[in-house]
Amino acid sequence: MVLLQLNFMDIDVLVIGAGASGLMAAWQLAKAGKKVKVLEAADRLGGRIHTISATDGTGVIELGAEFIHGNMPVTQQLLQEAGLTFYNVHGSMWREDEGQLKQEDQFIPGWNELAEKMRALEDDMPLADFLHQYFAGDAYEELRTGVMNYAAGYDTANPATASTLALRNEWLQEDEAPQYRINKGYGSLINYLFQQLTAAGVEVLMQCCVKEIHWQPQRVTVTAQTGDSYIARQAVITLPLGVLQADATAQGAVTFMPSVLDKERAFQQIGMGAVIKLLLEFAEPFWLNHEQMNGKDLTDMQFLFSQRSVGTWWTQVPNHRSLLTGWLGGFHAEEFRNATAEELKEAAIASLSDIFRLPEGELNRLLIAFYAVNWTTEPFTLGSYSYATIYTRQAWSVLRQPTAETLFWAGEALYDGPFTGTVEAALVSGMQVAEQLLAG
Ligand SMILES: Cc1cc2nc3c(=O)[nH]c(=O)nc-3n(C[C@H](O)[C@H](O)[C@H](O)COP(=O)(O)OP(=O)(O)OC[C@H]3O[C@@H](n4cnc5c(N)ncnc54)[C@H](O)[C@@H]3O)c2cc1C
Repeated sequence: MVLLQLNFMDIDVLVIGAGASGLMAAWQLAKAGKKVKVLEAADRLGGRIHTISATDGTGVIELGAEFIHGNMPVTQQLLQEAGLTFYNVHGSMWREDEGQLKQEDQFIPGWNELAEKMRALEDDMPLADFLHQYFAGDAYEELRTGVMNYAAGYDTANPATASTLALRNEWLQEDEAPQYRINKGYGSLINYLFQQLTAAGVEVLMQCCVKEIHWQPQRVTVTAQTGDSYIARQAVITLPLGVLQADATAQGAVTFMPSVLDKERAFQQIGMGAVIKLLLEFAEPFWLNHEQMNGKDLTDMQFLFSQRSVGTWWTQVPNHRSLLTGWLGGFHAEEFRNATAEELKEAAIASLSDIFRLPEGELNRLLIAFYAVNWTTEPFTLGSYSYATIYTRQAWSVLRQPTAETLFWAGEALYDGPFTGTVEAALVSGMQVAEQLLAG
């Protein structure tokens, strides 16, 4: 009992989760003089940011977040502070159809007409309903399919529930926005935040899977799977939405005592996507061989789309690395939910073989490393990133209210700005929750 009391006196705020949001919140709180401890379930920091080194030593491989989608103020400010550099990513877009590769200039066929109708929309509705209302009939079949695939692929969203107004905000501001990659990868940003926390005396505990949070005003007792308990006046919860939506039997699920029913209901009103990211390192960038590509010059190719089972691919342009990234988003990821790594590899190679008209044996011979990350089944993530449904605005207002000035809520899913589902969203949410707690 005496020991518990000492612990209580020791820590002001427990931050649950050491992704971008949790680390940012912890840092802001520590800077303001709060005594903070961070509890993280995994054996590494960063959550959905996971940067590793390429086998061939040519750079980094991003198993999770990869791009800075536009001019994102908080991310870019933090990079600058950390002395980390980033570079502009630009290249051409290609589509494969029945073995023919052709260059395209729009992600979605009929983009201009779509943008016009989206701009004019006043009342929100799910994307699928919007398409059926404004783009009905055979003439628009290609547009409807393109838009559904884009929402599923890029936003990893379910078109049946995704908010058209939210997608409008995101798509229209991102159209033509510059894209960047961080030279040393997003992991370098996580390392920077960790260094700042260490310097500020904040302890970050890994392999500390929180199972129960007992709370009463101004007192929180957090129990981890290890049996250890931690006590503080307040807690900031930055768990991924997938974990918060999961039932109590899930490995990362946390039970709140007493329960926080208003928050639990609100979590269910935000959409959580699905994604599997595949990364294939080859001995050489075979797609740059004009002869093998039937004379097509793919030097500048960034994105490549097709109807194959793994249908979205990108290269590392402007860097000519021999790395191809395959992406299964939304319903495409659901189709492969239970696939093994070997099955995913076979699907990836079969798709590339059809797209580039190269024998599978040849591609397997060139393959030097393969990574498949099914984020939807990763126990401490359970999904890709959030998307707004037509009920999400209401949910955000509930989640932004702390519970009895004791439990505070953050994470990318709580961000309501234009950069939905991004690292920026996580960082901003982490900053805002710290400001909220400090203002209380
Ligand atoms: C494949 C993929 C690609 C992406 N690409 C991009 C991109 O290009 N650009 C971009 O900006 N964004 C991208 N994102 C989104 C971005 O990665 C996320 O929005 C952001 O990293 C989320 O940060 P967070 O702190 O909110 O959540 P997380 O990073 O998920 O952090 C939550 C933390 O909580 C921990 N946790 C879970 N359960 C428990 C528990 N019971 N106890 C203690 N800890 C627990 C988790 O292990 C995790 O570390 C991508 C995401 C994925 C999955």
